[in-house]
Amino acid sequence: MSSKNPQIRKRAAPIQRLSGALIDQIAAGEVVERPASVVKELVENALDADSSRIRVDLRNGGRDWIAVADDGWGMSPEDARLCLERHATSKIAAVDDLARIATYGFRGEALAAIASVSRLRLRSRPREATEATEIQVEAGVIRDQRTVGGPPGTRIEVADLFSGVPARRKFLKTATTEWGHISDWLARAALSLPSIHFDVQRDDRPAFSWPATDDPLERIAAVISEADAAAFTPVSREAGGVTLEGFVSRPERHRSTTAGIYLYVNRRPVRDRVLQHALVEIYRDLLPRGRFPAAVLFLDIPPEQVDVNVHPAKWEVRFADPRGIHELVRHGVRDAVAARRWLAVEEPSAAAGSARSESSARPNQARDAGSNDWVFAEAADPADRAGAQIAMDSAGFRFEAFRTGQAEGETSAPVRFADLRLLGQLLSTYLVLETKDQLLLIDQHAGHERVLFERLRAEWLERGIESQGLLTPTTLRVEPVPLAALIECRESVARLGFDFEPFGDATVAIRSIPALLAGRDPGPLVHNLAEELAAAGDAADALRAGSRNLDAADRVFASLACHSARRRGDVLSPEEQRALLDAMDAIPWAPCCPHGRPVAVPFELAEIERRFSRR
Ligand code: ADP
Ligand code: MG
Repeated sequence: MSSKNPQIRKRAAPIQRLSGALIDQIAAGEVVERPASVVKELVENALDADSSRIRVDLRNGGRDWIAVADDGWGMSPEDARLCLERHATSKIAAVDDLARIATYGFRGEALAAIASVSRLRLRSRPREATEATEIQVEAGVIRDQRTVGGPPGTRIEVADLFSGVPARRKFLKTATTEWGHISDWLARAALSLPSIHFDVQRDDRPAFSWPATDDPLERIAAVISEADAAAFTPVSREAGGVTLEGFVSRPERHRSTTAGIYLYVNRRPVRDRVLQHALVEIYRDLLPRGRFPAAVLFLDIPPEQVDVNVHPAKWEVRFADPRGIHELVRHGVRDAVAARRWLAVEEPSAAAGSARSESSARPNQARDAGSNDWVFAEAADPADRAGAQIAMDSAGFRFEAFRTGQAEGETSAPVRFADLRLLGQLLSTYLVLETKDQLLLIDQHAGHERVLFERLRAEWLERGIESQGLLTPTTLRVEPVPLAALIECRESVARLGFDFEPFGDATVAIRSIPALLAGRDPGPLVHNLAEELAAAGDAADALRAGSRNLDAADRVFASLACHSARRRGDVLSPEEQRALLDAMDAIPWAPCCPHGRPVAVPFELAEIERRFSRR
């Protein structure tokens, strides 16, 4: 045996030049991954052609048919033919141009690549011309070219993507999933382009219509949701010729994943670690662990300071000065959140001038803010934070000792919460209890969250979570990717106690929710579940009956519990306070909520006495 690798042939084959068609197909592997990439390339071309209205039509998740029509400047008969050739572009002419790319496309390979792996029909009419050119291409070979009538602008249809490349076709996902990717990309594009009118048809029915507007929040409301738009607070900052504009969510509105974060560099949607890290860092101390903000942020930066040529699909960028960008985003978001923090407490119309001094801890007002599960705590400097963390950890440790009754080296049975003297509720947030030698504060939200988490988990493991029908089904808007995940995991979702019906292209009608969570607002519960399923591939698998991947399933239970538990600021009747203590006695105990925050913190009598100079 000359080689262990069967791929390596025994003798070198003579070198040959690849045929143009083959080169295009290989390039298509980079540019055209799935129907969403075709939609992206075609819509970007329409945008580069100065269009103001773009219409996208899809059948079967784009697997069968995609059409993008625009009212842009169109192409002459010569250009219409040229644009299908590899490395033919009107957007750059010299290497120097690469340093200041202002268009979406510039490689001049998208149309050639798409045409090489589909049946493509192009019709284009320049604005000033009276007739259009129509060209038909099959697997990269031009079959027909003629002059036809038609409106100004360009329309490109792509049918049977990858039909001649079975190895690629095989990797396409279900129509639902492909539609999810397409509508996700369209939503990202539309958020950054409020002045462009978008119409999207799916399987011959209208899916989205986003009319042109000059108010970015209006576009956000149309594309994401009214509620998200209402909870956004504006960001605006400039440094060294780089500007950051956009919106970030108020800390009381948070999500289980980063799916609500929309980032752009020079109006191009990106996934960028520098930007995302800077954003999330600001919320780290404001949100419960494992929760994320929502944001729509636009970074505009001189083209020389950023390389968008890193990845063919251009999702990634490289900054010349990543630290400077990180700073800019961090400061911009921090200022936005700090200003809003004060606004949420005081009159919303008051000037933001004294934001800093007003943002200090005001427990009464935090309570007045209603169901907010957010501490209006002063942003401590990192040194303080570290100190607080250590204090909390050691308190948790002592608490464990309390529970097992070994604080004084005793060996008595664990104390039951319900047996302790309950003094009442503090600041509508903590239950106050008295033990033999401690004052014990229980965070009602964290405690209740733990209870719900344990019960959901136990029911699910046993036989599936019991569900309870809603008197009237609630409808809920869900973003495309989470919606697709929800629909694909329908059985597992039923085992979680939820029953829903897809309703239109971006909505579900919720029919029942877990009986344990009866009375809760079903919308946020299902919304979070959908995001969780979409974000963590393992969550969907973990929720199948018999799965042992409890870590992933636990994240789902934790999220459901967090959204259903009584909040800080909820006034609990004495009966409700007792019921919570009883419930806490009935679960396997852990002194933290599922997100890792402590449930109960003891204050030692000895310490209290010392403070009163009794010791
Ligand atoms: P690129 O966008 O990188 O230049 P493409 O293969 O996507 O490469 O397109 C090639 C050329 O075809 C573009 O440079 C542009 O001149 C022309 N073109 C493509 N789509 C349109 C359109 N919708 N309207 C006008 N011109 C277009
Ligand atoms: Mg292009």
